[in-house]
Amino acid sequence: MRAMAETVVARCVDHIVSLPQQPGCGDVEARALCRAMREPAPEHGTSLDPLLDQLLEHWVPRSFTAPGPGYLAFIPGGGLFPAALADFITDTTNRFTGIWQAAPALVQLEANALEWLREWMAFPPDARGLFTTGGSMATWNAILCARERHLGADIRPGVLYTSDQAHHSVLKAAKLTGVMPDRVRAIASDECFRLRTDVLEETIAADRRAGLVPFAVVSSAGTTNTGAIDPLDAIADLCARESLWHHVDGAYGAFFYLRPELRAVLSGLPRADSLTLDPHKGMFLPYGTGALLVRDGAALRAAHEATAAYLPAMPQPHEFYDPSQHGPELSRGFPGLRVWLTVKLYGAAAFREALAEKRALTIDAVRRVAALPGIVIDAAPELTLFAFHLTWPGATRAEEDAATRSLMEQTTRKGRVMVTGCTAHGRYLGRVCVLSFRTHAAQIDALVDDMAAAIQTIRP
Ligand SMILES: *Cc1c(COP(=O)(O)O)cnc(C)c1O
Repeated sequence: MRAMAETVVARCVDHIVSLPQQPGCGDVEARALCRAMREPAPEHGTSLDPLLDQLLEHWVPRSFTAPGPGYLAFIPGGGLFPAALADFITDTTNRFTGIWQAAPALVQLEANALEWLREWMAFPPDARGLFTTGGSMATWNAILCARERHLGADIRPGVLYTSDQAHHSVLKAAKLTGVMPDRVRAIASDECFRLRTDVLEETIAADRRAGLVPFAVVSSAGTTNTGAIDPLDAIADLCARESLWHHVDGAYGAFFYLRPELRAVLSGLPRADSLTLDPHKGMFLPYGTGALLVRDGAALRAAHEATAAYLPAMPQPHEFYDPSQHGPELSRGFPGLRVWLTVKLYGAAAFREALAEKRALTIDAVRRVAALPGIVIDAAPELTLFAFHLTWPGATRAEEDAATRSLMEQTTRKGRVMVTGCTAHGRYLGRVCVLSFRTHAAQIDALVDDMAAAIQTIRP
């Protein structure tokens, strides 16, 4: 065991050290490779070293270099090393954290970590939460709570509202709760890509007139397309007036609430009935770490509480947290240890400082990108994401779209940074998102230089 573990640790650390030298996007033209990789289950075992060679030399590099410093694409994830150590402890000690009685002290650590998130997001003391595998599963659970609270058993007339900029996980989450796509309204967004509350109000009224039952609004604390933050306070007011559940998708943006100077742009976030968080984004943890907070903890428990003859009875009243009473899973990993160990090792201040650094890098990046010839900023950064397009006199929309797409591709092909685009309001937008804990000033310099060089070859 020791020899195997030492080999793996040494090779993984070598890999991490090599990340700055690796291309921002690995070679993912791997169809032939993937076809050649298909194989039946081996009848007999093999040794570790050749497997690690294949993994680390051939397969891992054929990926987006998501943990690398130059990853400015999509919403960057993290990969803080102590979380891997937490997983190692979890898997080797292999205790059962699905129910409180099976590992009370370990489950208490998870409850503590959730309690830290609750305090950071300024949610009330009787809020409860759950660690999930990601933001999508958190949003699913939130919509389930909203559905149970507002619709009971009669779910078909229920209507859910979100914006035309919402993450596609909202539609998937709705469907998973039995709210079908014809009961999800994608409300128009304004010129800053924020949900229009006037249209929301009119649509709710029209649905009520049609005999439907509006029950929830899912707003964004930072969209994936352009980083837009919906008017959370105004939506909270409207939800209070209309008796609707207000869920905030903070998968990208919520952790910026830790920064006092960014509280104003995220104003209204703590008023949400529920909040999706993604520690694998804003807390720089490895993929597989999402979280949900529900303002009225009883609503979350009511959606999942269950007993079985073969399980010990929960102590009453609910003094101790029990994961299986707040989510769909019974047997599970121990996601709380990743969060707990990392925060204990580094302290909350280190996370706040890292978020401030990413914000400062973004402000610098947008100023310098805006100064490049032909760049028009379509969405200034509210947090650490901005979007833009390339133009020149006489350019048509189709030419601008093709040129901006080419700008993202050529910049990425240079290998120092990876950037991606999106289509919003009918236009292709280039975008930059700074959220990797490994991204620093050198990557912003590389971004600006490589974009400048690409623009010279693209613009007529
Ligand atoms: C990433 C993201 C999601 C989905 O979260 P997963 O962790 O990928 O499941 C939802 N909404 C937003 C705004 C995101 O950035």
